[in-house]
Amino acid sequence: MSTQPTEKNDFIRTIIRDDLASGKHDSILTRFPPEPNGYLHIGHVKSICLNFGVANEFGGACNLRFDDTNPTAEKQDFVDGIKEDVRWLGFEWAGDVRYASSYFDELYGWAVQLIKQGDAYVDLQSIDEIRANRGSFTEVGVPSPQRDASIEENLARFEDMRQGKFADGEAVLRAKIDMTHPNLNMRDPVIYRVMHAHHHQTGDQWCIYPMYDFAHPLSDAYEGITHSLCTLEFEDHRPFYDWVVQKVGFDVPPRQYEFSRLNIDHTLTSKRKLKRLVDMGVVSGWDDPRMPTVAGMRRRGYTPEGLRDFCERIGITKSEGLVDHRMLEFSVRKSLEETTARGMAVLRPLKVTITNFDDAVSKFNELKNEKTLAEFDGEALWLTQPKHPHLNMGERQIPFTKTIYIDATDYEIEPPAGYKRLSPNNPEIRLRNSYILKVNEHKTDDAGNVIELIATIDEHTLGNNPEGRKVKGVIHWVSATHGVTAFVRLYDHLLLEEDEIDASLAQNALGADADAFWINRHLNPNSLTVYQAVVEPDLAKAAAGERFQFERESYFIADSVEHTQSSPVFNQIVSLKDSFKPE
Ligand code: ATP
Ligand code: MG
Repeated sequence: MSTQPTEKNDFIRTIIRDDLASGKHDSILTRFPPEPNGYLHIGHVKSICLNFGVANEFGGACNLRFDDTNPTAEKQDFVDGIKEDVRWLGFEWAGDVRYASSYFDELYGWAVQLIKQGDAYVDLQSIDEIRANRGSFTEVGVPSPQRDASIEENLARFEDMRQGKFADGEAVLRAKIDMTHPNLNMRDPVIYRVMHAHHHQTGDQWCIYPMYDFAHPLSDAYEGITHSLCTLEFEDHRPFYDWVVQKVGFDVPPRQYEFSRLNIDHTLTSKRKLKRLVDMGVVSGWDDPRMPTVAGMRRRGYTPEGLRDFCERIGITKSEGLVDHRMLEFSVRKSLEETTARGMAVLRPLKVTITNFDDAVSKFNELKNEKTLAEFDGEALWLTQPKHPHLNMGERQIPFTKTIYIDATDYEIEPPAGYKRLSPNNPEIRLRNSYILKVNEHKTDDAGNVIELIATIDEHTLGNNPEGRKVKGVIHWVSATHGVTAFVRLYDHLLLEEDEIDASLAQNALGADADAFWINRHLNPNSLTVYQAVVEPDLAKAAAGERFQFERESYFIADSVEHTQSSPVFNQIVSLKDSFKPE
């Protein structure tokens, strides 16, 4: 099988290929322009893989630019987090990180230029009046009383805005285009507003800030971006994008192209809404492993390779839809198969006492198969096993003892049809890496729950098949005396609804009662299940951030925040089996 990646062929790559072939551009420059008002999520990963991906593929470069024009929602913490996330995903931006705020002088100058050209004016209406006078799809807009003020008046008022002579909301600068335009974005959009707010980059230097729709195209043009790639909701903003770049007079204007945003079932993909989950306290933070943030997915154990593979699979189109979350899990699982060591962990421990342990194990030296390395220290038989069945990852020592734990779901008094594990009618099974076990008796509590199994092992079966019978099934186990107690966390979706739109989480806080109502109705109460498990000693030695396959369970990662060798904590990455088949 070829390991060469196939050439990607979406409509954006076709455009870029054509632009290079026709000589329209000699090289390409893209940008990823997050607003630092939260941490990145899986939707941004799609945009990052596209912007950095095409830059890499076509020998160009990609800028990381913070679109930081809204200081009250933004923070340095988010800037730092976003940089870390982009690097973790495996991408490097061209040169230094950029900020729209480093162009505040230029942007101010361009605004003055527009006023001097008669293309912008200061409006003294209130924000509500401006909104009401904008009209609708069926009604044209009403011109502002200041729309035809002289250039000198406008220059003076804009200077007053900059000098802090207006309070927030008392004046705005608007582009002068057309109040009857069928596209509402072209009805004299606001391009600067008064906001007496401290900015994380520029401090208290400014009390007026440009609007995103003004700053973004001009930052693109100023940096020499060739292809400005964004999501479809900006399609209606493109006429203004082109208008403003043309009015300011850039020789080689950037072109904006739109693709469909990523939506995944049961997943919120909006920074503001994810922030609400953090603020409501329903998750432990932006990096809660259930969060679809890059920080959350990283802590959850997802790999950069898995996320990049997922983005390749979903591709780039203009059609909207819900992507199956199992596709993401498929890509992550694929990246773990050949990279993670194996280990045994029992999530629902059921005690098994092996009555013939001392007798059977004392004979292991005479009976053992030369393939089985083991050593008895008087208490435990230490079995030497590879960490991975076929990759060279070294070895581990697994203690086998008189009392062990198996998973409670591996023994059923009255098994359902097709059950292949232990039951009174099927008392024999292979203990993974160890002997054949035979259950001779089960003990129950007053409620009839099985609380202990009394069993024997077949002393001839360490590394050998039993004689005269076939034993089907293999189960995992952990020594009860030498295993280590660990917290093992299993995850499910945060949202009950498949489509995040149905979860109708408001972008802004509505108060404690509304929050409680929303939580009750839309949040999955079973998104986190914590097991007090027992793990083999080798797993407890894991370093924080180390990934494993717990045999017959799932892939897990030692939690980067809470895991210690004396008190291990593991997060489920993905299950072992997938019900999803990619085309
Ligand atoms: P959010 O609503 O989550 O804050 P946003 O679009 O406001 O998203 P930005 O920081 O402005 O967030 O986004 C940076 C870039 O990421 C933009 O180019 C945007 O189009 C892209 N992006 C955001 N969400 C998605 C998504 N779900 N799928 C693909 N691209 C996305
Ligand atoms: Mg945005």
